[in-house]
Amino acid sequence: AKDLGRNAYQLYTPSMNARSFERLAMESSLRHALARGEFTLVYQGKVDLVSGRLSGVEALVRWRHPEMGLVSPAEFIPLAENMGLIGDIGAWVLKAACRQCKSWHDLGLPPVRIAVNVSALQFREGDVPAIVAEALRESGLPPNYLELELTESVLMQRVDEVAHVLRELRQMGVHISIDDFGTGYSSLSYLKRMPIDALKIDRSFVHDLLEDGHVADGEGAEIVSTIINLAHNLRLRAVAEGVETEEQADFLRAKGCDEIQGYLISRPVSGEDLVSLFDRNLLP
Ligand code: C2E
Ligand code: CA
Ligand code: CA
Ligand code: CA
Repeated sequence: AKDLGRNAYQLYTPSMNARSFERLAMESSLRHALARGEFTLVYQGKVDLVSGRLSGVEALVRWRHPEMGLVSPAEFIPLAENMGLIGDIGAWVLKAACRQCKSWHDLGLPPVRIAVNVSALQFREGDVPAIVAEALRESGLPPNYLELELTESVLMQRVDEVAHVLRELRQMGVHISIDDFGTGYSSLSYLKRMPIDALKIDRSFVHDLLEDGHVADGEGAEIVSTIINLAHNLRLRAVAEGVETEEQADFLRAKGCDEIQGYLISRPVSGEDLVSLFDRNLLP
């Protein structure tokens, strides 16, 4: 029954039973996924809006579950956090991403930077600089080719400690960008204090540029322009994610956005397939 009142008890329905069973099964297999080699990375290019060339690559984790198939990180990252597994998975992702980036360099491709997502919990509870140092040492990737993508929620907790860790990473030569920018709640004074390099405009804002499939003058356009200007006023690069149409790319270029990422350029692909994106103009 819907509209359960405050004191009503919820009936235990077969479908809930199935859902919680599924969740339990997922938890128990997640516990072994790393040891079983079930994680893999896919890569999505970022493009410089001036040169049209590949400017960076974001690594995105996938879980190949033997029965459930590909499980999205949106589903299993929160689970991994609750289960205390995010540290190990995050360390694996960092190492695999650095190794992949180094192997592109070794192929003689124009060197690009690899961006790795670090969740707030992972950042708070793990020794990120030590894990980063280990991944760099093990792969031989020069530190300035690594970028960490952090969400605003990271910046807002324990500001002094976070600023200290970010400075440590910056001193190593690692770059930092703020992911999903605009969806969180970061204060401008904190942003100014943090040693960051780029703001990634959340894909919901890039989506809202469109009305009936076309870029329209309006609130959506104002918000995106405002974030681009904010980034530039803080001497940061502005990167737009979730760019799906040529009109969005044209608008972003006209507003001075530095880089774009999204299905317009490429879906996330395997490390091998990404090679075809190097060394050519990727803008339509
Ligand atoms: P995110 O960091 O914001 O990554 C961008 C997401 O948008 C990716 O989803 C990507 O596949 C998708 N995307 C890219 N271009 C487009 C587009 O043009 N249109 C649309 N509609 N979507 C697009 P994905 O790979 O499912 O990842 C979801 C989220 O999971 C990521 O969001 C990130 O927060 C998290 N995540 C992914 N990999 C990792 C990881 O290795 N570690 C951690 N901690 N989190 C990760
Ligand atoms: Ca990201
Ligand atoms: Ca994002
Ligand atoms: Ca996101």
